[in-house]
Amino acid sequence: MEQVKNTVEDKKNLKSFSFRELVSLMRDMGEKPYRATQIFNWIWRKGETDIMKFSDIKKSFRERLAEEFFVPSIVEKQRVESEDGSVKFIFELPDGHEIESVFIPDRGRKTVCVSTQVGCPIGCKFCATGLLLGYKRNLEAWEIAEQVLRISLALGIRITNVVYMGMGEPFLNYEATIRSAELLNDDRALNIGARKITISTVGIVPGIYKLAAHPRQFKLAISLHSAIQSKREKIIPVARRFPLKELRKAIFSYYHAKKRFVTFEYVLLPGFNDSDEDIEAIDSFLKGLPSKINIIPFNPFPGSDFRAPTDDEIYRFYTKLMKLPYTVTLRKSKGQDVKAACGQLALFGYQRKGMVKPVVKR
Ligand code: SF4
Repeated sequence: MEQVKNTVEDKKNLKSFSFRELVSLMRDMGEKPYRATQIFNWIWRKGETDIMKFSDIKKSFRERLAEEFFVPSIVEKQRVESEDGSVKFIFELPDGHEIESVFIPDRGRKTVCVSTQVGCPIGCKFCATGLLLGYKRNLEAWEIAEQVLRISLALGIRITNVVYMGMGEPFLNYEATIRSAELLNDDRALNIGARKITISTVGIVPGIYKLAAHPRQFKLAISLHSAIQSKREKIIPVARRFPLKELRKAIFSYYHAKKRFVTFEYVLLPGFNDSDEDIEAIDSFLKGLPSKINIIPFNPFPGSDFRAPTDDEIYRFYTKLMKLPYTVTLRKSKGQDVKAACGQLALFGYQRKGMVKPVVKR
């Protein structure tokens, strides 16, 4: 795995500090704790990266800070707007790698979908990220949280919800994922309610147990896609390591700890996971668990083995699933025209190489 540098000429990254760590840093530097609030405000609300511009802090201390610390940033490289209002952002990281994040407006909700890794090592068969990009490295906590900050500043709006459903498997980067969620939740930073932050996993069981034990009420979503073990293994290679039986136990432990229903994502792959047998398997997997099932019609990408379901196929599956005692929603993936829809993050790089024509409205 590639390592990310967190220092510039021996300076330390001020963005890698949580608020609490910043308070103790100020104490160690002989400053009052309120300095931490000032610094946090400049970094995590205003997005300022030049320490000398922290104008409410005395100049001598700014100079001292700038000698020992630096404030890195991810940089917006491109923005592509979809006709449905969603906006895909390409950000460049300090080491030159690129990641993608998506802004999704939905009535009062203003959601950002963040990436947690550069690429993804899992390689699900319905997902462009792992198949087309491979895997480069984990993101740092600040690189994850900053996607939300930069989008909020770029669009001039307050973000209300965050979903960890972009590039990468969040629970393969657990510590940074949780640290970034805590940063987003901090009322001195972006102040996004814990219940408005959803972490989605393809089924990394140890991560689910850890989230269950975490004191905050972060929400859990599971990329299920099949409740039949042999089928799931065909499309999600890591399902062999974390079989459905183990996954179910872990999900129940989260539910018992948090008393919150769990969302299940189900990519509809026509002819593969939409039979009556598949529906029965979903029912028995979810038995006793208050759940919401999100059906996501598959979005094809170059080289994918599956096709998009027809409207009839979607309707048939949806109405059958509706008969089960769970909340069922049909997510017409937003942002399809700019490849910002579920499972399509990574395609923009391909568009830029000329394989697919993008619609750039910037
Ligand atoms: S669906 Fe998620 S876990 Fe699977 S390859 Fe894509 S990004 Fe990785």
